[in-house]
Amino acid sequence: MTFRVIAGGRDAASTPGLLIHGAAQVATLAGGLRRGAAQDDVAIVSTTDTADRGGPGRRDAPVVACWEGAILAVGPRAATTRTLEAEGYPVSRFARLDAAGGTVTPGLIDPHTHLLFAGTREGELRLRQRGAGYLDILAAGGGILSTVNATRAASNEELAAHGRRWLAEMGRHGVTTIEAKSGYGLDLETELRLLEVAAALGREGPIDIVPTFLGAHAVPRDYRDRPDGTEAYVQSVIEEQLPGVAAQGIARSCDVFCEEGVFSADQARRILDAGKALGLVPRLHADELAASGGAELAAAIGAASADHLAAISAAGIDALAGAAEADHPVVATILPATTWFLMSGHYAPARRLIERGVPLALGTDFNPGTSPTPSLPLAMTIACLSLGLTPAEALAAVTINAAHALGMGDEIGSLEPGQAADLVVGGVPSVDQIPYWPGADLVCAVVKRGRVVIGGD
Ligand SMILES: [Zn+2]
Repeated sequence: MTFRVIAGGRDAASTPGLLIHGAAQVATLAGGLRRGAAQDDVAIVSTTDTADRGGPGRRDAPVVACWEGAILAVGPRAATTRTLEAEGYPVSRFARLDAAGGTVTPGLIDPHTHLLFAGTREGELRLRQRGAGYLDILAAGGGILSTVNATRAASNEELAAHGRRWLAEMGRHGVTTIEAKSGYGLDLETELRLLEVAAALGREGPIDIVPTFLGAHAVPRDYRDRPDGTEAYVQSVIEEQLPGVAAQGIARSCDVFCEEGVFSADQARRILDAGKALGLVPRLHADELAASGGAELAAAIGAASADHLAAISAAGIDALAGAAEADHPVVATILPATTWFLMSGHYAPARRLIERGVPLALGTDFNPGTSPTPSLPLAMTIACLSLGLTPAEALAAVTINAAHALGMGDEIGSLEPGQAADLVVGGVPSVDQIPYWPGADLVCAVVKRGRVVIGGD
């Protein structure tokens, strides 16, 4: 399959228009946040056979028209072209990208990554194979704390080089926006550096980065030996780190690792309330390893998302279901690649959450300890195989629902007029084939804000 950007009109090199044509399917994800049965509907426009005034049937493939970085129109070629002409956008004014019988989807959105860190932790794989659990490794001073040491010692340039390498990988898997958490500094200086590097990488593009402050990711070593260590660290997050982070002005959200043996629901609530007072949207790592009241807390404080949920309790499911009818429901962001990599076999009850009307998003949880994969399509495959999601449910979870998890559902995540022209051309004729080829390299072109940033020539 070949893909070419063809100059459209005389000024095509500088045209603000891009027309993607020749797709077998365009999954528009039009219609907003997906929950319940609607999670399975990705609003596909397909190639149709049209009978032309009694003449021979014609294949009418959908087109996506972008103008000045935003979506202008999506629909069957003939009708959409007529509308564009009538509105003063003749197709000769567009550069063209041939989807060559593939699929077009919104750019994928990874709503949960720990993009920036130093060092690797491949040794923990052997420990887990011998039966050590996540909290055993953490208690022994490994896990997050070894990454914290390496990250504190890394320069901004080293962190940025690492970030660029993995952002490039994410881009090749069709990702156009990610959330990136701090949380491997656990002191104000390093947390601010992590946020600063994330913001700088976002400015470099093409992937947009949404920074989150996660100072409460673990209790750092210098607090652990004190009898009141966790509580003292919570105080330092609230009194020192949060004001510094708010003054820096980069982070949009505040996150807490609410988990038995890490931060309690009460401690998480105090941190997230303090963050909220400073304008940071709450989100949390909830009920990953044990039912810890995280989902209930997310519902109570109106968090943007509750992430992981592999060990959510029945009361937690009730709480998220109760919040699902709110204007801004808590999005359940499921991270199945983590469960897979931890070899726990205990996956989040995604089907029950969907049945209860809770909107689901999927992320990679990209991090050096428990999910070192940058591939969101791989997370989709695991979600289909181990959580029972349909391919369409998984696609909604990494597009429009992931956008809502980041509070960006009215900017990205769907191909509708006015939304950002972030999209992926995949070399498969059906969107159901995206999770069907695990680990395959399916992306033929990526368009960011109307500009072809990967492939296309
Ligand atoms: Zn995480």
